[in-house]
Amino acid sequence: MKPALLYSLLAAAGLAVSVTAQTKFGVAVQPGPMDTILLKDYAPASSVVSPETTVNKARFPVVDVHTHTSQSRIKTAADVADWVRTMDEVGVETTVVFTGATGAEFDRQAELFKPYGKRFQVWCSLEGGDVNAPDWPERAARELERCYRKGARGIGELTDKGSGMQRGSLPRAQRLHPDDPRLDAVWKKCAELKIPANVHIADHPSCWKPLGPNQERTPDFQHFNLYGKDVLPYEELLERRNRMLARHRGTTFIACHLGNQGNDLAALGKVLDQHPNLYLDISARDYEVGRQPRGSARFLARYQDRVLFGTDMERAPSMYRSWWRLLETGDEYLPGRIWWRYYGLELPAPVLEKLYRGNARRLLNWN
Ligand SMILES: [Zn+2]
Repeated sequence: MKPALLYSLLAAAGLAVSVTAQTKFGVAVQPGPMDTILLKDYAPASSVVSPETTVNKARFPVVDVHTHTSQSRIKTAADVADWVRTMDEVGVETTVVFTGATGAEFDRQAELFKPYGKRFQVWCSLEGGDVNAPDWPERAARELERCYRKGARGIGELTDKGSGMQRGSLPRAQRLHPDDPRLDAVWKKCAELKIPANVHIADHPSCWKPLGPNQERTPDFQHFNLYGKDVLPYEELLERRNRMLARHRGTTFIACHLGNQGNDLAALGKVLDQHPNLYLDISARDYEVGRQPRGSARFLARYQDRVLFGTDMERAPSMYRSWWRLLETGDEYLPGRIWWRYYGLELPAPVLEKLYRGNARRLLNWN
């Protein structure tokens, strides 16, 4: 049966047939077995034959500025020892660990990493409790200083994906966004103690787009989606971040995940130009730099003093090695975590060295 005839029969039977989809880029589209494949199961095998460079160890010693004890499943001293073995294998000299904790739990975790000295830097989180209480700002600043005395060398990752940085949910008007005056005391304390804050503000812009046929990221990411939820718009969150940066010039902020603007490097560059106290980490944005390798390499060269390396992806040796391959080699069509492929950036040595460790050595508090 000719396709055209099949279409008219199906149409006559009242079945939905997209007539406009019959030709795409000169290809006459016809029905077939692939029509019933679910999006989440689509995993095309590549036939591209091209060099596959294995980079076992990073070219320069690395400071990974973005990991979590929870995500890396660190519970015991044996887990930490195992992590150190992996770090040695792949070339990570120091790992910044977000404990996600304050109080006794922070102290417990800090003890866990102490035997390894400068191989780890532990960071604390933001004081919990009622952020509406009049003494909360002062209490939060005091707890930050207490954690500092117990070894914290930064605060973060503090996340506001549109529903505030406080623990638990609050009505819109009471939520703690980055430019909220209730956070002033904490940001000032960071400046005073010379410790940076790692902030996760907004999220990947696709989170604010519907989960439909035009959704940019794979179904694996759909649980992050915020479309239609009771959260601030993406743009407003970035504005609030910028207001925080302008209000607290003396505080060093590291906006993780390329500030959630890795999709628009020109706009991100402007924010860096306007706010000298802003730094970025590259963590979990392999798929942003990998899909625009030339633009990303130019960006990382231009802002070579402003971007730090981080992972935020558990702690398997293969995970670190796929970062080395992406940043160091010119390999093409690399498999990744999302349905588009990546391309190696071939970063020049001086840029790579600053990204891997130079900027972290300069910015972080090592005392
Ligand atoms: Zn994180």
